[in-house]
Amino acid sequence: MTDGGGPVTRCALCGRPASGPCARCRRSVCADCCELTSGGAATFALCLTCARAGSSLRRPWLHLTLWLLAITAGVVAVGLGLAALR
Ligand SMILES: [Zn+2]
Ligand SMILES: [Zn+2]
Repeated sequence: MTDGGGPVTRCALCGRPASGPCARCRRSVCADCCELTSGGAATFALCLTCARAGSSLRRPWLHLTLWLLAITAGVVAVGLGLAALR
C-alpha cells in the first residue's frame, strides 16, 4: 500500500491523515484525535492534548471575565481619581 506520495498532512498524535488544525496549538489532528468545543457562536476543534491540558473549557470565558474586571477596575480608578481632584 502506497499513498501516492503527495504532501499529506499527518495527524500530530496518531499519524493518520489530518482533518484540520487544533484551535489552540495549530497542530494538525485527525477527527479521532480532536474534540469539538462549542464556545458561543463558533465551534472549535481542540486536539486531545489541548483538550486535556485545558481541562476547564471555560478558560476563554475566564479570560474575558478577567479582562472585563480589569476594565471595570480601570474605570473605577479613573472615577476615584477625578473625585479626588475635586
Ligand atoms: Zn489522530
Ligand atoms: Zn492542540
